[in-house]
Amino acid sequence: MKDNVTVINHPLVQHKLSIMRDKNTPCGEFRRLIKELSMLLAYEVTRDLPTHQTEIETPITKGKFPMIEGKNIVIVSILRAGNAILDGMLELIPTARVGHIGLYRDPKTLEPVEYYFKVPQNIQGADFIVVDPMLATGNSAVAALDKLSSLNPRSMKLVTIVSSPEGIERVKSEFPNVHIFTASIDQHLNDHGYIVPGLGDAGDRIFGTK
Ligand code: URA
Repeated sequence: MKDNVTVINHPLVQHKLSIMRDKNTPCGEFRRLIKELSMLLAYEVTRDLPTHQTEIETPITKGKFPMIEGKNIVIVSILRAGNAILDGMLELIPTARVGHIGLYRDPKTLEPVEYYFKVPQNIQGADFIVVDPMLATGNSAVAALDKLSSLNPRSMKLVTIVSSPEGIERVKSEFPNVHIFTASIDQHLNDHGYIVPGLGDAGDRIFGTK
């Protein structure tokens, strides 16, 4: 971990990511891999969650055992590609609450434009996990974090699959307290705002739209 940035370089994560980068990996397999990879990321992201001792009766005796409060976790998906990470995370944290933010990148300015915002009620004080596979310019992530910070979360984390150095710096400079978890920090952004080497357009690859 460096400066609130954790690159998860577990061999399983890196192996799955390499297959996802391959342009010949078909949509169905890409979707399966991003879900599996997100489950592995969820394991790291939730490492510091508080637990509380809960009374449980085993077949042998009664005792107090640690449990997490899943309802205090709000996973916020940046549409549409974020939904693939959301699916994986919900497998591991089924009681988490879920929000969605619809942002698209204006292809000329690369600036985010919000078209949808829906989060659960009464989530002040919760731990927010914001998910988006590609942290490119950082504009969408910053717009989402900006909007969500007004809801007074206890903490906010950002989970991505591939990040650019530019996107990491942007988020770090605007939200130094937001911990970023990513499977890779790639080389740079190209002139169209795509991450190099990256994996292409994550939304198109997940949903087969191109
Ligand atoms: N969004 C994507 O889907 N891919 C990139 O490389 C950058 C932004």
